[in-house]
Amino acid sequence: MKFEQYNISSLIKQSLEELGFRKPTDIQFKAIPSILKGDDVLGIAQTGTGKTAAFAIPILHLLMRRSHHNKYNQVKCLVMVPTRELAMQIAQVFKDLGKYTDLTILGLVGGVDQAPQIKKLDKGVDILIATPGRMFDLVSQKHIDLSRVDVLVLDEADHMLDLGFIKDIRDVLRYLPSRHQTLFFSATIDEKIKDLAYSIVRNPIRIQISPKDPVSKNVTHSVAHVAMDDKRFFLERLIKEFEGQKILVFVRTKVRAERVFAAMQRVGIETLTMHGDKEQADRLKVMNDFKMGKVNVLIATDVSARGIDIQGVDYVVNYDLPDVPENYVHRVGRTGRGVLKGKAISFCSPEELPVLEAIQAYIGKPVSVMTIDKTEYLETITFTEETPNDNWQKMLDEDEQEMGQKRKKKKK
Ligand code: AMP
Repeated sequence: MKFEQYNISSLIKQSLEELGFRKPTDIQFKAIPSILKGDDVLGIAQTGTGKTAAFAIPILHLLMRRSHHNKYNQVKCLVMVPTRELAMQIAQVFKDLGKYTDLTILGLVGGVDQAPQIKKLDKGVDILIATPGRMFDLVSQKHIDLSRVDVLVLDEADHMLDLGFIKDIRDVLRYLPSRHQTLFFSATIDEKIKDLAYSIVRNPIRIQISPKDPVSKNVTHSVAHVAMDDKRFFLERLIKEFEGQKILVFVRTKVRAERVFAAMQRVGIETLTMHGDKEQADRLKVMNDFKMGKVNVLIATDVSARGIDIQGVDYVVNYDLPDVPENYVHRVGRTGRGVLKGKAISFCSPEELPVLEAIQAYIGKPVSVMTIDKTEYLETITFTEETPNDNWQKMLDEDEQEMGQKRKKKKK
């Protein structure tokens, strides 16, 4: 079935066409009719499956019909998300899809000046996509009225729990009217998520997308066995071989992000970094430069990249394997989004083999191995334009110290 045949406003169909969305993805096919009917939905789906449009399309349609009831300041749909990037990205999807409607849409995040946000809120916002901190702040200052919310969306609920937002999720319910539709999305489902979900949705329609293989069908992913010290040479080679393609490189820590950045700089490769230490303005600039293709390689940590939708990432490189197997799925899910195809490769050092095993157990099958024969391996480490120096080992040692401190902190 094509979007043309859907019973949704022609104004939304027009923007769907402009975006090149002709046929619904799996989750859209399953979720849109239920949401249009007014059902609560519990959706288990990773990013990359088209889940944002799966809720944005029917919400826009429903609110278009109801918007004449709106009074200033009264938000009709609230989308609560864990990170600023995700809020801005979802707001953009709503704006793109709702471009021909009269609905007002605002992405509301912390770390930036409140005044322009207040100005927009005071003029009236129909659809608010927000991270909890700034939202509660402005609710308490009475710039946001949630008493008329028709639809509540909780996106990446598992990530919200990881970040300790459980109280915020419960608190927001106190501001909403007792009758509202709830759409609850999570990439993973365990007892904790289930408890939370069933405490806030009513007889939900449960939709689960490809539960057996959490890695999208559109992604070809493999692993290369590479010594820790040689990873940078393999990255250099890969970037040079895939010149002009968008490459997203994942590392374990922010210190490593900067180290890999410096190593690439030494061999004349321009890259960008994204991690928790970056100011909001910097993060936006980095995202923008990468999106626009000004720089084609972005080196990121898990937290900073979770949920981000960057159009057309061709290659995901797991420079370091993730600490948590689940993050493997999130990382490789940055490519092969929607109907596009993507590739992912992981550099696995001997020390990381247990992590690889945990990943394979989590995804329920082995990751195919990219065999590199001896000659090719040697060729790669001599291919580098870097004059070998022994600083690298020193850097790695420092990095290990940083990780050690982190682990100690966690134990406390
Ligand atoms: P999401 O899972 O919401 O982050 O979406 C993943 C990507 O799929 C985004 O880049 C969307 O633009 C794209 N997308 C979503 N729905 C469709 C569709 N029906 N057809 C083609 N691309 C889509």
